[in-house]
Amino acid sequence: MKKQLIIFTDLDGTLLDASTYSFEQAAEALALVSECHIPLIICSSKTRTEIEHYRVMLKNNHPFISENGGGIFIPKGNINLKEYADKTHVEEIDDYHAILLGASYKELRRVIEALRIKGFNVKGFGDMTVDEVSQVTGLSLEEAAMARQREFDEPFLFQGAEDGLKALFKSIHELKFNFTQGTFFHLLGDSDKGKAVSVLIDLYTEQFKDIYTIAIGDSPNDLPMLRNVDIPVIVKKKNGTYDQAITLPNLIRADGVGPEGWNKAITQIIKNIL
Ligand SMILES: [Mg+2]
Repeated sequence: MKKQLIIFTDLDGTLLDASTYSFEQAAEALALVSECHIPLIICSSKTRTEIEHYRVMLKNNHPFISENGGGIFIPKGNINLKEYADKTHVEEIDDYHAILLGASYKELRRVIEALRIKGFNVKGFGDMTVDEVSQVTGLSLEEAAMARQREFDEPFLFQGAEDGLKALFKSIHELKFNFTQGTFFHLLGDSDKGKAVSVLIDLYTEQFKDIYTIAIGDSPNDLPMLRNVDIPVIVKKKNGTYDQAITLPNLIRADGVGPEGWNKAITQIIKNIL
């Protein structure tokens, strides 16, 4: 029996250009993915609202993972959740079945406050106006407003020296929270992209029996996702280099920055497999 291919993808700096947030350079591979009916699962630090915005532009109706693994949103009727619902708490949110793995945003904001009281110069999206989020991200005002609608993860800026950053990470762990790094630093609970991806891998395995998984990213926050798949792929960063923090034995380094690398690697892998 032929294996069902499943692709998990990061957005910022991977499928989307790091400066323009465009996926135009990946158009050819995206067309191939859709032609071959391969589920393309967005797995991003972006919010549900932002991802929904991109799903419309990408004509993507597959499940997705928001805020660095905080939430898994499965369009109703997309995957059979019957058996799974006995094991895990599945919520109904709007038109989705949702599996929520992340800490609540309220809690994360309390941690940001606690870190500030400890003397760390941290500024989260929740401390910024829509204008400020637009300035630091390069997003339009409309998209910056979507980026502020957070549920499970707080992106933040930190000002201070290298050892200050180490002390900050130590304090976050002492408060029993976690951090990760994409374009920004992120504060999160006990969730990451890898845990969320493994839930969907379980569900797809139940559905298709034999699956073959690809994940593609660019930053340390993608590492847990890359570790959970058959073919991990990274693209080059804006400066033309690969993230040094990502090393895996079977890692494929795509020949291109962001969506250009995405286009080349995904096209080649699909053609090799099919
Ligand atoms: Mg990224």
